[in-house]
Amino acid sequence: MDRPEIILAPGPTPIPPEVLLAQGSPLVYHRGPGFGGLMRDVTARLKELYRTQTADVLLMTSSGTGGLESAIQNVFSPGDEVLVPLAGFFSERWTKLAEAHGLVVGTIEYDWGRRVVPEEVAAALAEHPVKAVLLTHSETSTGVIQPIRELARVANEAGALVVVDVVSSLGAVPFAFDEWGIDVAVGGSQKALSASPGIAFVAISERAWASQRAATMHRFYFDWSIYKDYADKPEPENPWTPAISVMQGLHAALELYFQDGVEVALERHRTLSRAVKEGAQALGLDLFGEGLDDNWTVTAIRAPEAADADTISDRMRSDFGCVIAPGQGPLKGTVFRIGHFGYFSELDIVRGLAALEMTLERLGHPVKRGAAVAAAEGVFQDAFGA
Ligand SMILES: *Cc1c(COP(=O)(O)O)cnc(C)c1O
Repeated sequence: MDRPEIILAPGPTPIPPEVLLAQGSPLVYHRGPGFGGLMRDVTARLKELYRTQTADVLLMTSSGTGGLESAIQNVFSPGDEVLVPLAGFFSERWTKLAEAHGLVVGTIEYDWGRRVVPEEVAAALAEHPVKAVLLTHSETSTGVIQPIRELARVANEAGALVVVDVVSSLGAVPFAFDEWGIDVAVGGSQKALSASPGIAFVAISERAWASQRAATMHRFYFDWSIYKDYADKPEPENPWTPAISVMQGLHAALELYFQDGVEVALERHRTLSRAVKEGAQALGLDLFGEGLDDNWTVTAIRAPEAADADTISDRMRSDFGCVIAPGQGPLKGTVFRIGHFGYFSELDIVRGLAALEMTLERLGHPVKRGAAVAAAEGVFQDAFGA
């Protein structure tokens, strides 16, 4: 077998041995006390991550996109109007999903890499009220963290529901479901939590439930009310056969995540993000996207003149077994992306930066040798002490 690759892509993220062991253990039967215990623990921890005491959190077997689809199917009726601020690949996915289900979608378009401007969303809602705004917290295609708190405030003031894709942000950057007035937030197992792909989770406010009860969209597999009936049993269950192994892994992953507490885990994401950014800049590269200090999930980096971005990501992988992500959409060829959310150590980040340095040299872009590692070490000393 080939050696495992070093994954520094924005999901799926590398899975720690504790999680691999848990998901490789004998299956826990999905009806009854064993699985019920897993579900209770996982749900309680996710509620803490979402920072909610009032929402229901439901777990579904699917990738993140299934969780997004569940939101569309449960909250809306065909013909409902929604507003989507477009600023990258994943906000575009919202429009596709909504249109596929017969919603009427209004958009505000931003160049990729921009932050959505809350005042502009407020103005659009004042001019044309809608049932909901569909938002993307971490726009994984550009690395930008969108100002969800402010966007939710203007949506709340306009009486619109707030539905947020937090697949690549939950656990990596601060989020507060109750305090920010969120109605639906969809996350996934394979990003910041470093579990395998296969489980989506969704937090649902009382207002979203009210809308769910009245909604006429066709739904079955993802019908939240069925999930809730099963989750509320004395021993919680899923209605259908869940991804049991992934659940066992997710349970272990949350155990690791919570070991030092949420604040420490978030602060780690901030530090590792800084290390990547300062490391790349020390190699003479320019960073892409607005609000860099807040973007702790993925760093988008402009390729230097000497090389195109796809060649950099291809060679990182072929020469060093280091998987990063190429640019998407309009950024293809000019930008590459390094993911740094998940259960990473400082050395994982340093390996990625070293691979980047060697790749740039091989492609004819002169770099100051060792500069990226030195910059990263400066960040680590600053954050963790020597
Ligand atoms: C990864 C990701 C998704 C989900 O993708 P799946 O492949 O369906 O798990 C959704 N939104 C964002 C912002 C993501 O980064």
